[in-house]
Amino acid sequence: MTLRVFNTLGRRLEDFAPREQEHVRLYTCGPTVYNVVHIGNLRTFLWEDVLRRHLLAKGWRVTQIMNLTDVDDKTIRGAAQAQMSLRDFTSKYADLFFRDIDRLGIQRAEGYPRATDHVAEMQEITAKLLERGNAYETEGSVYFRIATFPDYGKLSRIDLTQARRGDRVADDEYEKEDVKDFALWKAGKEGEPTWPSPWGPGRPGWHIECSAMSMKYLGAHFDLHTGAVDNIFPHHENEIAQSEAATGERFVDVWLHAEHLIVDGEKMAKSKGNFFTLEDVLARRNDAMAVRYLLLSVPYRRKLNFTFDALAGAAAAVDRLRSAAARIDEVASGGAKKPAAFPAAARAEKFALDFMAAMDDDLNTSEALGALFPYLRELNAAIDDGTLDAEGAAIAGAILRSADGVLGLLPAAAEVLPAEIEAQIAARLAARKRKDFTEADRIRNELAGKGIVLEDGPAGTRWKKA
Ligand code: AMP
Ligand code: ZN
Repeated sequence: MTLRVFNTLGRRLEDFAPREQEHVRLYTCGPTVYNVVHIGNLRTFLWEDVLRRHLLAKGWRVTQIMNLTDVDDKTIRGAAQAQMSLRDFTSKYADLFFRDIDRLGIQRAEGYPRATDHVAEMQEITAKLLERGNAYETEGSVYFRIATFPDYGKLSRIDLTQARRGDRVADDEYEKEDVKDFALWKAGKEGEPTWPSPWGPGRPGWHIECSAMSMKYLGAHFDLHTGAVDNIFPHHENEIAQSEAATGERFVDVWLHAEHLIVDGEKMAKSKGNFFTLEDVLARRNDAMAVRYLLLSVPYRRKLNFTFDALAGAAAAVDRLRSAAARIDEVASGGAKKPAAFPAAARAEKFALDFMAAMDDDLNTSEALGALFPYLRELNAAIDDGTLDAEGAAIAGAILRSADGVLGLLPAAAEVLPAEIEAQIAARLAARKRKDFTEADRIRNELAGKGIVLEDGPAGTRWKKA
């Protein structure tokens, strides 16, 4: 089956296949680490995780790079207010970012480069743009001259008649009405961190960060670049202009953009104060997988309105999935002995095909879930009637786990220990009960030799692999 995705460049659905056989190169714009991310940001990161997982499910290798923007107008302002060094200030929020994505089961990308570790690469591109006449220097700053790049606007479809030649914009973020030559390098200001450069001390603009880090790790021309819709202009438009002007090559084949998480019809945003962090949400309902479900249940190109009612519905759906998976596992490891009437293999295959087809249709997660729940209902009914046998349940369990490789909602299947080790753990418990601690310790050491570590706690003895 072919994956089709909606390419913002050209605004149409296209078949997707990696440039290099079997290897997808994916760049995902990362967080600006000046604050705790809100669940709007997390919707975008979570969708990118689902994309990544689906690419893997299709059998491709994925190299995903996500930058950490640790120098820009906002991080500099934040560090100054907190009276911290830029590095210490941004590290604090980078750590909190990783805590949040881990809680949501977002798989780690192959790399999280920091902008401040790539200033040399940004200067290299800037120097090349100057050399090629696509940029100019003025008072220690360097600007990209958009009039030298005829393709400017091809991603965002902005109207360039508004742009007056030579007008400049120094801010990292600005609106379409302000399309102007933008900063690649900003002359240092009093009290701001600076780096030495051929144009005097200063710091990079925001947009050049992503060009430098994506091309360093993925090559000058790679497959996929993603973000939310607010990244289309100016950030991604500027990335294309800088990168393609510098290399003379096409930069990215496919641009994907997620719609926003909204609250009461408005974009959830730090600046509007209408945001929730994951911490805020978990304080009301401590179920990170319900948050994951809610955020992924609406296809990425549709706006998602966040409410706590919707979160309660998501929690119920995750519970249904969890308990169905547990029942299926139970049947698989014992199960009904009646002759199997439920056509487990055929239903599993149909579900797998429907699920894959939905995900291949521009990552239509709501249709994928629409295939999942009726299938679970059928399985539950078959278990109630005793018509699902152990073998059929094993098939259903396996197909469910493979779909969950993309959804990421189920806990990892409990690991089962070999029977002899279980027996040793039981023997040690018995020894402890009769206060034969020498024997108990002997067994503990023997298990440690086999790489099994025991932990005695108030809830009993747990084991883990060393
Ligand atoms: P930032 O840290 O502001 O650079 O944002 C990180 C990512 O979150 C970017 O890709 C933004 O486009 C995205 N983003 C910001 N607000 C929202 C929102 N309300 N819904 C979805 N994504 C968002
Ligand atoms: Zn970026």
